[in-house]
Amino acid sequence: MEIEKSDNNILEIQVAKREQLPSDKKTLVNLLFLTIPFFVLVPSFLVWSNNNKPYNITLSNSKISINDGKILGHYPYDEISEEDLIKVEPYIYVHKDMYNSLLKMREEAGKEGIYLVFLSGYRSIKLQEEIFYSLKSQRNQNAAERAKVSAPPGYSEHSTGFAIDIGDAENRQTDFEVDFENTKAFDWLKKNASRFHFKLSFDRNHKSVDYEPWHWRYEGSIKALKLFEASNRD
Ligand SMILES: [Zn+2]
Repeated sequence: MEIEKSDNNILEIQVAKREQLPSDKKTLVNLLFLTIPFFVLVPSFLVWSNNNKPYNITLSNSKISINDGKILGHYPYDEISEEDLIKVEPYIYVHKDMYNSLLKMREEAGKEGIYLVFLSGYRSIKLQEEIFYSLKSQRNQNAAERAKVSAPPGYSEHSTGFAIDIGDAENRQTDFEVDFENTKAFDWLKKNASRFHFKLSFDRNHKSVDYEPWHWRYEGSIKALKLFEASNRD
């Protein structure tokens, strides 16, 4: 009987051990089931919420330059689709949303004896690439220097169709020159362009792009405003 008892005791111990091991495993599994979603979901939520923040404007300057997608001070812009383009001059196309406003602005300026000339509108990313790299090599400038006067391909407001370079018909020598700011056309634009929803993109205070008094962008539609939202927060 003693032996049986002893056997029973051993068995009980063994059984108890057997029962405890799976129970431990169960606890471990339960723990994992409870904590894994936490470790997966919380970081996922943080990434998601971060991605859904338009711009981290409250972060330090160094972080802004990392997160905002800019290259050498220029924001990335997609190329407009061809069906949204409309010819405004021979060889000059713009976004159809700004067509009427642009022509109205030129017409109103004309009534006051100011003759605006459209110099450049939509540019394909391919053309921007040619401009950026060919002029860069001609002028012996590195990319950063070149980016102060011309956007890298894929980063030009011109590829959106919402940008227009404007000259003064009576002062064509000031085309694409800072001296354009001394023309009657620029003076008129400064006072009136906003009535037609045009805004100077790169003013004298721009952090990374040189002053371009001839380069205006249209912000008269939600589509355009969305495109330039980041730039306007700078
Ligand atoms: Zn321009």
